[in-house]
Amino acid sequence: MNAAVPQAFIPYSRQHITDDDIAAVTAVLRSEFLTQGPELPRFEAAFAQLHQVKHAVAVTNATAALHLACLALGVKHGSRVWTSPNSFLASANCALYCGATIDFVDIDPDTRNMSVHALRAKLEHCAQRGSLPQVVIPVDFGGLPCDLPEMRALADAFGFKILEDASHATGARLHGQPVGSAWSHATVFSFHAVKIVTTGEGGLIATQDDALAEQLRQLRSHGMVRERSQMTQVPEGPWVYEQQSLGWNCRMTEMQAALGHSQLQRLQTMHAQRIALADRYDRLLADLPVRRPARPGDRVSAWHLYPVEIDAALGPHRRAEVFAALRAANIGVNVHYIPIHTQPHYQALGFRAGDFPAAEAYYSGAISLPLFPQMTAAEQDRVVAVLAMALGV
Ligand SMILES: *Cc1c(COP(=O)(O)O)cnc(C)c1O
Repeated sequence: MNAAVPQAFIPYSRQHITDDDIAAVTAVLRSEFLTQGPELPRFEAAFAQLHQVKHAVAVTNATAALHLACLALGVKHGSRVWTSPNSFLASANCALYCGATIDFVDIDPDTRNMSVHALRAKLEHCAQRGSLPQVVIPVDFGGLPCDLPEMRALADAFGFKILEDASHATGARLHGQPVGSAWSHATVFSFHAVKIVTTGEGGLIATQDDALAEQLRQLRSHGMVRERSQMTQVPEGPWVYEQQSLGWNCRMTEMQAALGHSQLQRLQTMHAQRIALADRYDRLLADLPVRRPARPGDRVSAWHLYPVEIDAALGPHRRAEVFAALRAANIGVNVHYIPIHTQPHYQALGFRAGDFPAAEAYYSGAISLPLFPQMTAAEQDRVVAVLAMALGV
């Protein structure tokens, strides 16, 4: 290695765009419809089939998907919503958009997902005080599905709905079932450029519930219906549309839907590439003082992220040093996530550092290593070599 020649940048995630993707988008640009045409239902049907759900409702981004799903699940002023502190801001913000109160459930340090034990304990505590949540938003961190069968049992016992944030988990499986198909009332996916499949910006809500899907379709387009059978009044003419609730404009364009449909054709191939890279990281990192992602035998991660945890015994400043060494070597590592409750906006709501110690402990050592379908073995070797050097091994 010649030290004078800077090594090419390796991002933590990178989209994979093929000539087929470009052709699909170009075809839309030459077609009649740039929005509200045939591509959207085609993309939704393909996604629904792959995830074995009855309904897939695509929207502008996953943040909007979480917001609309909260509304459709009845979250409003005075509602209580719980999520994981180890997530992106949107998992909690969606409840605040609806005027609800947000709270968090600490993570399981092994899976880094919401802990079922902590959830059960908090439910039992709040049941006695009459402060149970209406909706719980577990997050499939890094692409690893949460303990959904256990969470669904708690949902049925304590009377809340599960809105799964599967923004990282397109294509992941639990007990052989695709995420979104079996346990959650609604499941949200993200198609941001860093995620598993991309539409640039984009999101989707999957559900098996007919009424919920219909509500979501209305909410994404002004709360409006055009089908005569759905109207409350006899229409004056074929031009009539009815607004039945207060909705937004969260529609996905035809270009985005066409890109998403084209990307979905490669979901399995890209997933296999991610799995192979994660397996290889597991082997290459086996002797380093880092905690690798958990590998529960009953589920298959989508491997959106490969987050390692620097051994806490190495000292409190170690993560920052290791992060800096990787960045200095042109390796685009990242940290997922700063616990949401420690953000100034959430501190102003009354949360404090120390409230969710497992999420905070995980965060203090966390570094997400680069992982994307086209990553080469040589790139991966370079990441591991710099990491080992920074850790002094
Ligand atoms: C990316 C992400 C979101 C938001 O997705 P957008 O499509 O960017 O709005 C929400 N939750 C999690 C866990 C995410 O990673």
